[in-house]
Amino acid sequence: MPRLLLATSNPGKVREYRFLLGGLGYPFTTLAEELIAEVVTESGNTYEENARLKALAYARLSQLAALADDSGLEVDALNGAPGVKSARFAGDAAADSDKVSFLLAKLEGVPWERRTARFKCVIAIASPEGHAEICYGECHGMIAFEPRGESGFGYDPVFFLPDIGKTMAELPIEIKNQISHRARASQQVPEVLQRFQI
Ligand code: IMP
Repeated sequence: MPRLLLATSNPGKVREYRFLLGGLGYPFTTLAEELIAEVVTESGNTYEENARLKALAYARLSQLAALADDSGLEVDALNGAPGVKSARFAGDAAADSDKVSFLLAKLEGVPWERRTARFKCVIAIASPEGHAEICYGECHGMIAFEPRGESGFGYDPVFFLPDIGKTMAELPIEIKNQISHRARASQQVPEVLQRFQI
C-alpha cells in the first residue's frame, strides 16, 4: 500500500496526526523518517496558499503523496489576528509560552464576551505530479484570561471551550482529536485519498 508523507516538522502537529491518520487506517511516514530536512518557506498570504505550497514542494521532494497543514488562531477583538501569522506572532524564535503571553497582553482589558476566537486548519494533499486538494476545519472558543493545562501545543492553554468548560490544553489528546479544527479537516482526508487512489 503506498504511503502518505506527513509534511510537517511541528512536533505538536506530528503528535496529533499520528493519532488522526492512524485512526483512519492509512500508512504514513514523516519528514524525519524520510530524512527530509528542507524547510519550505510559507510565503503565501492565506492558509490555503501555504498548505498547498508546502504539500506540493514535499510531494515533489519525496516522490510520495504529501499532506501539509497550515493553521492558526483568529481572535475577533484583534480583527482576526494573528491568523496566518500565528506561528510568528511574538517573533521568529518565540516559544509557545511567549506567544501565549504576547496574546494575553494584547487582550488586556478586553471583557469576556468580546474574547471570541477560532482555530482554523487547512490541509493540502498533493501528488508528486503536481495535483493538490484541500480540506478545511474550524473550532470555536474564547480566549481565557490566563493559561490552564499542559497538553497540546501553541495557544491551547488559553483556548477555552465553553461547551466543555476547559481549555484545549486541559483535554486529553483523544478528546482534542475529536473536536479540533485539525480533527474536522482530517475527517475529509479519506475521501481525498480515495480520489488520489492511495
Ligand atoms: P503554521 O501552520 O506552521 O503556520 O503554524 C500555526 C501556528 O498556529 C502554530 O505554531 C500554533 O501557534 C498555532 N496553532 C495551530 N494549530 C494549533 C492548535 O491545535 N493548538 C494551538 N495552537 C495552534
